Amino acid sequence: MNWYQLPQHEIESILNSRLSEGLTKNEQEKRLKQDGPNQLEEGDKPSAILMFLAQFKDFMVLVLLAATLLSGFLGEYLDAIAIILIVVMNGVLGFIQERKAEKSLASLKELSAPTAHALREGRWVSIPAKEVVKGDVIKISSGDRVGADIRLLKTSGLQIEESALTGESVPSQKHNRELNGDELPLGDQDNMAFMGTMVTRGAGEGIVIATGMGTEMGKIAHLIQTAENMATPLQMKLEQLGKILIALSLLLTVMVVIAGVMQGHDLYSMILAGVSLAVAAIPEGLPAIVTIALALGVQKMIRKRAIVRKLPSVETLGCATVICSDKTGTLTQNKMTVTRIWAQGNQWNVSEDGFESSTGGDSSREHVLTEVLAFGALCNNSSLEEGKKGSLIEVGDPTETALLVSAYKAGITKESLREQFSVEHEFPFDSSRKMMSVVVQDSEGNKMLVVKGAPDVLLEKSDYIVWDEKKQLIKQSHKERIKEAIYALGSQALRTIAVAVRPLKEDEYYEQAAFAERSLTFIGLQGMMDPPRPEVEQSIRDCHTAGIKTIMITGDHVVTAASIAKKLNMLPEGGRVMEGAELAQLNDDELDKISENVYVYARVSPEHKLKIVKSLQRRGHVVAMTGDGVNDAPAIKSANIGIAMGITGTDVAKEASSLVLGDDNFATIRSAIEEGRNIYENIRKFIRYLLASNVGEILVMLFAMIMALPLPLVPIQILWVNLVTDGLPAMALGVDQAEEDVMRRRPRQAKEGVFSRGLGWKIISRGFLIGAATILAFWVTLKENPDQLIVAQSVAFATLVMAQLIHVFDCRSEHSVFHRNPLQNGYLVLAVISSVLLLLVVMYVQPLQDIFHTVALSLRQWLLVLGMASIPSFALAGFQLFKRDKI
Ligand code: ATP
Repeated sequence: MNWYQLPQHEIESILNSRLSEGLTKNEQEKRLKQDGPNQLEEGDKPSAILMFLAQFKDFMVLVLLAATLLSGFLGEYLDAIAIILIVVMNGVLGFIQERKAEKSLASLKELSAPTAHALREGRWVSIPAKEVVKGDVIKISSGDRVGADIRLLKTSGLQIEESALTGESVPSQKHNRELNGDELPLGDQDNMAFMGTMVTRGAGEGIVIATGMGTEMGKIAHLIQTAENMATPLQMKLEQLGKILIALSLLLTVMVVIAGVMQGHDLYSMILAGVSLAVAAIPEGLPAIVTIALALGVQKMIRKRAIVRKLPSVETLGCATVICSDKTGTLTQNKMTVTRIWAQGNQWNVSEDGFESSTGGDSSREHVLTEVLAFGALCNNSSLEEGKKGSLIEVGDPTETALLVSAYKAGITKESLREQFSVEHEFPFDSSRKMMSVVVQDSEGNKMLVVKGAPDVLLEKSDYIVWDEKKQLIKQSHKERIKEAIYALGSQALRTIAVAVRPLKEDEYYEQAAFAERSLTFIGLQGMMDPPRPEVEQSIRDCHTAGIKTIMITGDHVVTAASIAKKLNMLPEGGRVMEGAELAQLNDDELDKISENVYVYARVSPEHKLKIVKSLQRRGHVVAMTGDGVNDAPAIKSANIGIAMGITGTDVAKEASSLVLGDDNFATIRSAIEEGRNIYENIRKFIRYLLASNVGEILVMLFAMIMALPLPLVPIQILWVNLVTDGLPAMALGVDQAEEDVMRRRPRQAKEGVFSRGLGWKIISRGFLIGAATILAFWVTLKENPDQLIVAQSVAFATLVMAQLIHVFDCRSEHSVFHRNPLQNGYLVLAVISSVLLLLVVMYVQPLQDIFHTVALSLRQWLLVLGMASIPSFALAGFQLFKRDKI
């Protein structure tokens, strides 16, 4: 038996369900318990132990292990233990970070978990797709990813793209009729919808015949488990850089060892010092901290309702130079209220209290008004439900519920209309046609097509009009009057919907909307208000200050779009507004010449968005583009940052996107960009800190060898500096607050290298000064106490640590150490205080003094330490203040 061969009643009886009713909640729960959740099982995950062990196969870690072997071999067990400790702590850090990343990915998955529309005891409800069971009645429509295997029993222009299963990328047309043949391939089962395929057009209903691993997709699940590469460009660059830095550190270490031996130090102690130095100088913590900074940044973005689906986009966000945004619901609130109605030259203002004619006229005009309201409510997919205390709850598309509310004010309800007119067929709304229509039949059998949609589009398709009570051929003068009315409503920033009808003969039947929706009779217009979101104006201003251009792309009328753009300051003096029709005429070259000056695209179809993205990209822009529908997916995919709506977005748009807006709000894009910029800046901050510290550590040793001085630091001190001073403060820099002017800077160049904007110079100059200040402190102390090397070494150790801990505050700003309040980042203050305390512990607590070769310092020596340690950060900053120049 094949499901596609069976008629409806047999399917219903086998699955014990009814298409008109669906299952009861109890029955669904029972079946869910019996069959398990509707999910594909995931492949085996590596165990925690394997994940932990995997941390030690890194090249850098292998170098550390080699060093351990070497020092153990040389009999320095303490060093060997210290190194092993470092390796293990590194492994733990890497493991924690990987687990964290995995957890946050899982929670992202949860956030974007698909839902399904199921019928429960006659009512449509939205449920998590994993709760769907066999026998459930499911509704699918354009943009949905099908959640289970379904035998279709009602379809309306339904097309499904099944390439995931069949490899065929052209969508197949679906129907609800039984099929013959025993072994039809999946691609030919046209009355079935399969899990994981994508609805590209139309709508359908059917009964679920298989869920989870029982579906066709479940059967091939093991073939499609793909691991996405989530490394960001910066992570990849750092991986390469890491290798260069290792080579460089090893080279410098070898130089230190050779110089030391030439100066008469014994080979054994120089090799030990060299190994420790290599361990300290290799920035093994860098990749881990980058990933943590990215992961924590992503968590922060989620709290701001921006859900990052692809990690690399965190970096790209900071480079965005233009945001192309939808209007309805993103810039505006998507809370529609009809405020004006126009029909046959009459206009009414609509308020809470009802309708007031603004053009005068007698009561005979009232039935004209009634027609506009009634057709708007009849050709409608949404509904009003009664809430508490007689309030109305709007269910469905806000444009449609606004029409229901306006009709309700005149005492017209969709339910009463549907008693008079039964709906035979529906051509659903799609944003390319910009209209929707229904075929209705009254009790006497008269059939009629009722259409509602964009007024200019409906007007084009209208051959008749009812004017002065008579249906007549539409004249140019009528068209002028209608256009004037559309213009007048649009310039008040109202969104306009027109209604029209066409009587049909009894046997007239159309499979496709294009054939039905023609030769219409124009009835009237409703104008609805959709106020801008209050926070958007400021966000747009912020984007402009941040050097980011904002462009509105909307399906709405050109006048409405332009007047909202003006309200939001999105349309500068001399900026252009372009209509989709004009855009379609332009070739790439022509568009590239003007696209820089177009700020509003109106009456565009989703297909046009791709053309706009491409043109802006050819002009060198990094483009962020929003979208919600199936047809938006190609543009979302092509954009540098594809953004999907979390609430109104279809599954397809979300899957194509790299960022999902949890609240559909433009202001969230702005926050995400700010956060993206900040994450990148924080990564720069700790790269700067870690590398300058490492340069300082190597130079102290190199200077000492060149100056023929004894070893300024013993190996264990070098290792301690590396582990404690570098680790904690660097992590705290990773979660630093944004610098005040982060949204006043121009977007970062996408091709920018890690060391650009003076970072390389800052690292070398500060590193040099840290090294020089430390060796100076060492030298002065050694001069004063020539036979007490341990005192000079303690001073050098303290100076190096303190210089780094002061320098960490310098790293917080692109400008200077004086630029920011040092107490602002609590984590950093805490990290620095703990590092200082740990320093004091190893310098003053007895058994540790022996292990770390330290002695207590006098006040004078401490003054020397602090004075020298301040030089690298304060000297340059002071000099900079004085010169007012960037160093
Ligand atoms: P944006 O692209 O900014 O979200 P939009 O919502 O206006 O703008 P579309 O949804 O493509 O874009 O709508 C285009 C036009 O189609 C609208 O201006 C309106 O006139 C008409 N329209 C919108 N929704 C419906 C609907 N449910 N039924 C009929 N016509 C509609």
